[in-house]
Amino acid sequence: MNERVADRDYKYYIFDWDDNILHMPTRIHLEKRQPDGSWRPHAVSTSVFSVIRGETDRYRPPQGRWELAFAEFQDEPDPRGNRFLADTEQALRRVLDGHEAPGPSFATFRRTLVEGRLFAIVTARGHASATLRQGVQRFIDLVLTPSERAAMMANLRGYRAVFDNVTGFGTDAEELDRYLSLNRYHAVTSPDFQTRLLQDGGRPVPAEVRKQVAIRDFLEHIIRVLQRTPAGKRWNPISVGFSDDDPANVQAVENYIRAELSRLFPDVKFVLYDTSDPALERGRKITVAGQLDLGL
Ligand SMILES: [Mg+2]
Repeated sequence: MNERVADRDYKYYIFDWDDNILHMPTRIHLEKRQPDGSWRPHAVSTSVFSVIRGETDRYRPPQGRWELAFAEFQDEPDPRGNRFLADTEQALRRVLDGHEAPGPSFATFRRTLVEGRLFAIVTARGHASATLRQGVQRFIDLVLTPSERAAMMANLRGYRAVFDNVTGFGTDAEELDRYLSLNRYHAVTSPDFQTRLLQDGGRPVPAEVRKQVAIRDFLEHIIRVLQRTPAGKRWNPISVGFSDDDPANVQAVENYIRAELSRLFPDVKFVLYDTSDPALERGRKITVAGQLDLGL
């Protein structure tokens, strides 16, 4: 058990999934205009889609229906079982075999897990929260070495001892399950998330605002968890990192932090990582609020 976790700063992360943690084999099914004016099926990766999505005169969804273009991003029945889990496993194996570069935040995500820190996955995908969580479980099972896994378990028990005053622990599987339950898994176009938004007033919500709702939920969740700190103990500095390979998302989140979150959570330092440039190993770092640079 590692009780030194109590002396650490409180550093948490929000991760986009596609092209940030992993380059997934999931495809978007479009149609492309041919030189003769006809349209032919044309499947693209998420990274290609981020470049061409504005070219509406050359690319269109099948039958004009975006839900058909993004069918692989849902929990639909699939010959390989769950599509997200199959794609995650394939992407992880390609990284581990050296056939594909990991996403720019892969190493940070790995470290976050080993350190046992709280995190959120926030993605535009349409899966159930439970599906994303299973994807994280696959990441742990396939990527972490035995010594990293042992370090993670020691850290998790340390947090439990310090924050929850726990002296008797469950099995590794039970403690890991407990940790994974403490994290947040938001696929913001999913039926799960739609239900959450409906509880929030029921108005139709554009994509950028959906990510904002997910981020705010994570901040409120962190504060709730931290309120379990034993009385009389001071909180260490809190910082929250957000990484996404879509510059438009990063910009929208930056605006949201400046307009709302920095006021709602004045003691929290926010750090954004724009991971769109493959030449920058962990992305372009933008500190939005908080006076201290703790070298995060
Ligand atoms: Mg992405």
